[in-house]
Amino acid sequence: MSLRTLQIDDQLFQYVLDQSLREHPAQTALREATRNHPHAGMQIAPDQGQFMALLIKILGARRSLEVGTFTGYSALTVALALPADGHVLACDISDEYTRIAQPFWQQAGVDHKIELVLAPALQTLDARLSAGEAGCYDFAFIDADKANYVHYYERCLRLVRGGGLIAFDNTLWGGAVAHPAKDADTEVLQALNAQLHQDERIDLALLTIGDGLTLARKR
Ligand code: CA
Repeated sequence: MSLRTLQIDDQLFQYVLDQSLREHPAQTALREATRNHPHAGMQIAPDQGQFMALLIKILGARRSLEVGTFTGYSALTVALALPADGHVLACDISDEYTRIAQPFWQQAGVDHKIELVLAPALQTLDARLSAGEAGCYDFAFIDADKANYVHYYERCLRLVRGGGLIAFDNTLWGGAVAHPAKDADTEVLQALNAQLHQDERIDLALLTIGDGLTLARKR
């Protein structure tokens, strides 16, 4: 019994997956297809995906956006959790990576819910704001270049409705954030975490799931 989070070793993590993971076959296949990718570590863990899907349902979300799609596991997971008329705006710059996603989105029958925009995400988000989409989204997932997290956050905070949720991936950065920063990404994540802690515009939780998942609920 403890007041702090458990240390999760491989055996316990496997137990968590064995006892709780419920994946669509397309999700399992997409993880398999990404396993040997040189940047496989950019994919979110499946237990985190399932948690995000639960959040989508709790929120009653219909419109979601993500910054950083990679090979499409998070977009697939969110799209599966959204209702039939749900929509995911997926922002990425890589045709090479996101092309891997398409057959799995089709296999799951959710490709019609996912709008992939290949362009710098700040550009895409600004265009949506200009198009009058402020307050139109229920959920935003930020999982891209760390240097721009704070800029993605400010856009997402406008795009998400009051009571909507913004999730940031990798906010513990392998544990590096708790030590003096040795690189620029650690430094920006430390600054972001400190900023969010003080930010009165949101309710906040920093979860130790995956590589750290920060949840910010817009007030
Ligand atoms: Ca990530």
